[in-house]
Amino acid sequence: MKEKIQEKFKSLFATEGTLYMSSGRINLIGEHTDYNGGYVFPGAINCGIMAAIEPNGTDTVKVFSIDKDEYVEFGLSEDSLPEQHWPRYIFGVCREILKRGGKVEGFNAVFAGDVPLGAGLSSSAALESTFAFALNELFNNGSIDKFELARIGQSTEHNYCGVKCGIMDQFASLFGKEGALIRLNCKTGEYKYFPFHPQGYKVVLLDTCVKHNLASSAYNKRRESCERAAAAIKANHPEVDFLSDAKRVWLDEVRDKISEEDFLRAEYVIGEVQRVLDVCDALERDDYETVGEMMYQTHFGLSKLYEVSCEELDFLNKLARKCEVTGSRVMGGGFGGCTINLVKEELYDTFVTTALEQFTQKFGHAPKIYNVVISDGARKL
Ligand code: ADP
Ligand code: MG
Repeated sequence: MKEKIQEKFKSLFATEGTLYMSSGRINLIGEHTDYNGGYVFPGAINCGIMAAIEPNGTDTVKVFSIDKDEYVEFGLSEDSLPEQHWPRYIFGVCREILKRGGKVEGFNAVFAGDVPLGAGLSSSAALESTFAFALNELFNNGSIDKFELARIGQSTEHNYCGVKCGIMDQFASLFGKEGALIRLNCKTGEYKYFPFHPQGYKVVLLDTCVKHNLASSAYNKRRESCERAAAAIKANHPEVDFLSDAKRVWLDEVRDKISEEDFLRAEYVIGEVQRVLDVCDALERDDYETVGEMMYQTHFGLSKLYEVSCEELDFLNKLARKCEVTGSRVMGGGFGGCTINLVKEELYDTFVTTALEQFTQKFGHAPKIYNVVISDGARKL
């Protein structure tokens, strides 16, 4: 990837450019907790976006995407929004830096990536974070703090790409560290690194390649259920602003006051907030068996209580159990996408082969396999 980028940069711009990169991410546990004020527990992974960048002394951005095989130029004013989709991520980052009083001038760039697009590994956050990190160094002497860079990426998605995402993806891409997961408190922004050295295990994602268009309307309904449940609990316990503030017994107190459906949704969320904490404790003891068990519990909750799984995901989860995989669950919002699996090295081949065979037989297409290692986030190379 690096050689390709450098070669292309030289042929287009006749100079070298400086290399930057940032990563995709996984989330080990903590699903649908972000909007409930709870924890997420992501880490950056060993695939990302790499870019060669150099200021060009003009007010025009000139950028070539190797993967899209497309060259685009755009200006830096608000009315210069590029027509194509991919340059909007870069344009948005420039605009969001400028809106915050930062400096961005014209530059040349060539970039490529190896994060699968749209698979739930946040290729878009990797792209935003690469450019946010680089433009901060090249034009602002690194004066914008990393959390603000994450917000710049998030605002880019909101304002220029039509995606109302949370902060997790950009946060993980920018703050990621080799061998560490990051527990982020979505209410306060506090975060803490935890060791993740699963010696003798692999982390593998199985992508169902299913995209359900149900996801966004169901997502809103889930949020509303959580808000209703939190409001009912708040009547008894005024300190509860989010479901993450509630104790499990407080939910039982309002069982008759909310619908059965809202109760089940809240039961999942309160359980999930606790599971993130339990997984953190387990990681400090290098207890990967407990981590795995929590992942199965999360999958059960997402499938049966929160009801955001689908046949394909449940199939892969069940198969993981049968193959004695240590932990397995749906990763991301649900209704499709990947399962994340923590599997002992000696069981890996059997698991992947069986999954490929049986999934294909049942659903008529093969799942995609992504092996991931927890790695560094945004950096200059
Ligand atoms: P993801 O879950 O991977 O973040 P998104 O739909 O949010 O999926 O973002 C994917 C979009 O990000 C692509 O459609 C493209 O515009 C941009 N993108 C990601 N990776 C690349 C890349 N390597 N080259 C060009 N554009 C990319
Ligand atoms: Mg994305």
